[in-house]
Amino acid sequence: MTEKDRKFPLLLSSIVNKSSRLDAQTSCLVRTEMPQTAMRNAVKNARLQSVSTVTLAMPLENAPRVKAGKVVQETSGLVSIGIRRAMVARVARQGVTDSMVLAAVEAIPRHLFIESGLASQAYIDASLPIGHHQTISQPYIVARMIEIMRNGGELRRVLEIGTGCGYQAAVLSLVAKDVYSIERIKALHELAKSNLRPMRIANIRLHYGDGMLGLPQVAPFDGIILAAAGLEVPQALLEQLSIGGRLIAPVGGGHQVLQLIERIAKNEWKSSILEKCHFVPLRQGVI
Ligand code: SAH
Repeated sequence: MTEKDRKFPLLLSSIVNKSSRLDAQTSCLVRTEMPQTAMRNAVKNARLQSVSTVTLAMPLENAPRVKAGKVVQETSGLVSIGIRRAMVARVARQGVTDSMVLAAVEAIPRHLFIESGLASQAYIDASLPIGHHQTISQPYIVARMIEIMRNGGELRRVLEIGTGCGYQAAVLSLVAKDVYSIERIKALHELAKSNLRPMRIANIRLHYGDGMLGLPQVAPFDGIILAAAGLEVPQALLEQLSIGGRLIAPVGGGHQVLQLIERIAKNEWKSSILEKCHFVPLRQGVI
């Protein structure tokens, strides 16, 4: 590990891509090269399209992949892209309409965030184990929560609590200008770093720590998204929302629901309860 790796916040673009564990493991699927500009362009294009065309008109598979200055033709990727599109179409059928969010979900290769043994299930709309009793979130709920948080507006600074394997952070990086993500389990923080490193995403900063405390040094955030359910939303996070900002979180024990909290004024928040959901628990402290 270099000195740079140990510094936080972690700027992913500052890390040299030494090796890619998952690239090797998923050679049966697609060798995915994802210059962030290509993904961003795809997402921008999608903003101009209606929802029904997003799944058909994404230019990703036609575009040559550029990595470290050389063009990499994606010859074996068509199957994987097709599966990804089918997954996004399912997510849209479940009610997600934000074309920018759908395009971001389509652009991120979810199979690169899970163990090779589970890669064939990557595009089933389900949560999957990532180790340490945690899961990668279901694509529908990732899309739905980001859609609610974004509310059709521009997201500059966003905070995610519960990086896990880094999948949602990668999706967020395509809809927000700057993404900060906190993980309390050191091994998962490291996993997210190694998953995201080959993707060279410049606008994600990963932190190892207790997300219940937020990141006061970076606040305020115009969006905060929790990937783990507490019995209530920690007060520190409410304080770190900008005025007009939106926080989306699963809350509850046995029966969980999505809660949206909007900060109306310095001392005023508005809360709404949305649909049912199921998340791993939000826990205090780090391990
Ligand atoms: N965002 C992930 C989902 C990870 S599961 C995805 O892309 O699929 C939820 C994660 O929240 C777990 O990794 C868990 O360790 C983490 N978590 C729980 N409580 C936390 C806390 N207080 N601070 C930071 N992370 C927390």
